[in-house]
Amino acid sequence: MHHFAALHFPSPLVYIQQNARSYPKTYMGIIIAVANQKGGVGKTTTAINLAASFAAAEVRSLLVDCDPQANSTGGLGFARDPDRVSTYHLLTAEATAGEGVVPTELEGLSLIPSHKNLIGANIELVGAENREFRLRNALESIRTEFDFIVLDCPPALDLLTLNALVAADSVLVPMQAEYFALEGVSELLDTIERLRQSFNPGLEIEGVVLTMYDDRTNLAQQVTQELKRHFGDKLLDTIIPRNIRLAEAPSYGKPALLYDVRSRGAESYIRLAKEIMDRRMRPAAIENATSVSEQAPTATTVDQPEDFSNSNELKRVNES
Ligand code: ATP
Ligand code: MG
Repeated sequence: MHHFAALHFPSPLVYIQQNARSYPKTYMGIIIAVANQKGGVGKTTTAINLAASFAAAEVRSLLVDCDPQANSTGGLGFARDPDRVSTYHLLTAEATAGEGVVPTELEGLSLIPSHKNLIGANIELVGAENREFRLRNALESIRTEFDFIVLDCPPALDLLTLNALVAADSVLVPMQAEYFALEGVSELLDTIERLRQSFNPGLEIEGVVLTMYDDRTNLAQQVTQELKRHFGDKLLDTIIPRNIRLAEAPSYGKPALLYDVRSRGAESYIRLAKEIMDRRMRPAAIENATSVSEQAPTATTVDQPEDFSNSNELKRVNES
């Protein structure tokens, strides 16, 4: 297994690791579905490298391959094995999630693999009870063992993606900056809206992330402006560049940060993980920042008597 402490990496990996311990453990069990029904937009690349980057930030990370193509499974170096416990067995309740979790080469990153037999679950579950809740129920038992659980979805709004969206706290939507990108994603946004009104009221949009970005084209820049107008701050600041290392890494069975951590591709996903963690910390961070700046004047203004009338300390003293 790889451990990063022994290696010397440039930022942002160093940054994310130096700050790892300052991230409070409020992430526990956050489930993020990586979804877009359009094929080949970078879902799997995002799922693998985001999950790996979480692990590199020393938060416990699990990748669940929800796609019968099993690209996340293969991309992490696991041979397709029909006998191994996979997402299929979780959906059919033949195995528990705990039985499906396997460790990967990267310390802190685990995987629940997939297999092409998962395609059958779409049909087998059609008449089944709670068919949309199978994955959610299965993951419930292991949720607290991980900080982030990343779900790699197939390129369809089928029962598999539906299971992922019902299990998830939020959806991360990878998109390419091309014309008609918005049209493709509107159906997904409609589905998310319907799920909020039915099976999963708490479902949020984690963000939209631009993938395979080529900043040399005017088109990409124009489309980015349009997406910014449409999604506002849901469009994440981190942009994933087109980078050959990201495409090569899966054939070595490795996330990009184990294949070539200095590549722009690996770095961009490390930044994405950091951005997502920072955003999730933001409400608390802003609160802390305000209370610190409010306290600062009283702490430094020595002439004025300190006013503790609102402090809990004083209440406690008065009560005792
Ligand atoms: P599917 O819909 O089939 O599941 P997907 O949305 O999961 O596809 P990926 O498999 O991640 O998409 O990416 C499609 C192809 O593009 C792959 O060959 C992948 O290696 C390559 N690719 C993805 N992201 C990048 C990138 N940033 N730079 C270069 N190549 C990339
Ligand atoms: Mg994929």
